[in-house]
Amino acid sequence: MEAGIVGLPNVGKSTLFNALTSTQGAQAANYPFCTIEPNEGIVSVPDDRLGRITKFIPPQKVIPAILKLVDIAGIVKGASEGQGLGNKFLSHIRQVDAILQVVRCFNDPDVIHVTGNVDPLSDIETIEMELMLADIQALEIALPKAQKAGRTGDKEAKLRVAAIEACLAHLTKELPLRSLKLAAPEAEAIQSFGLMTAKPILFVANVDESDLLGQGPMVQRVREFATKISAGIVPVCAKLESEIAELEEPDRSEMLAGVGLKEPALAALAREAYRTLGLQSYFTAGEKEVRAWTIPVGATAPQAAGVIHSDFEKGFIRVEVYSLEDLEKYGSEKELRAAGRLRVEGKNYIMQDGDICHFLFN
Ligand code: GDP
Repeated sequence: MEAGIVGLPNVGKSTLFNALTSTQGAQAANYPFCTIEPNEGIVSVPDDRLGRITKFIPPQKVIPAILKLVDIAGIVKGASEGQGLGNKFLSHIRQVDAILQVVRCFNDPDVIHVTGNVDPLSDIETIEMELMLADIQALEIALPKAQKAGRTGDKEAKLRVAAIEACLAHLTKELPLRSLKLAAPEAEAIQSFGLMTAKPILFVANVDESDLLGQGPMVQRVREFATKISAGIVPVCAKLESEIAELEEPDRSEMLAGVGLKEPALAALAREAYRTLGLQSYFTAGEKEVRAWTIPVGATAPQAAGVIHSDFEKGFIRVEVYSLEDLEKYGSEKELRAAGRLRVEGKNYIMQDGDICHFLFN
């Protein structure tokens, strides 16, 4: 899963990105297959269930799920026409699964706001408008090509033309594509475009240190807006998070407790990102490793196996599943099995959040 951090300049994107990724350097070593660009960072998704499993199945290695964060340079008004860093940066957003939009909700006379005053809703509107304009441009470039291919009888291209036209009609009403429901074949026909306003969005309200829970009026306005468009919102004080990130344990936990926070922002952010994207985790647990895997809600057992390796999906035979609660109750897999609490499921099984699995495959 990859999330792109966007926002106007000076809202705290880099501060947040650095705070989230700075303590995670060692984690990246677990993922040699990921190429990491300078503006990218890998963070592990905090999940207390991993710790609970390892109490009963102590492994050599614990591997959490990961989230790749991409710090996309600030978007300014006119970005879609090449203002600021312009189109080149917008194209980075096409590749991500979700957008984390940082919105400035802190007051600090020393930090200049690009438009002169702090107004989160107007900032959100500016970004949304630039993303919509960029989507319109991409679609207008793609339309004649698809029409040409459609005229030769290419069925896929005909679907693409219909989808592009529907998207353009929606966008010209100044509505983001998130709120347009296309039929599955049409949505698939334009999936490779990476249309930005179709991506799920999560607002990160960068709050004052005096409003860590985000109860101030500015955050409330963002919250109301987010609710209206079914987006998530997480209040975070990027400045404080960056100070916390510099500390080692146990100082870090002490500082968190001192300011009244239960967990670092990353935990809440990751949880919300999962929810926004309709994702959940399942686990594999053995002596070698205990590991979290990310799947969409509603995934079947073979699809879940496919996340480990595509061959596992093709050769799927069955899966043995048990729950963490049962592991805690019976204390070991052996006892669970003896008690008949280890279920055998076939290819139509719909995975449940937190399932602990052994896959059997050809
Ligand atoms: P970006 O342009 O969006 O990447 O913004 P930066 O992360 O570079 O932050 C711009 C300025 O705002 C820097 O001087 C930060 O120290 C400051 N800043 C970032 N987050 C906060 C915050 O939560 N509170 C306050 N007071 N200042 C912040």
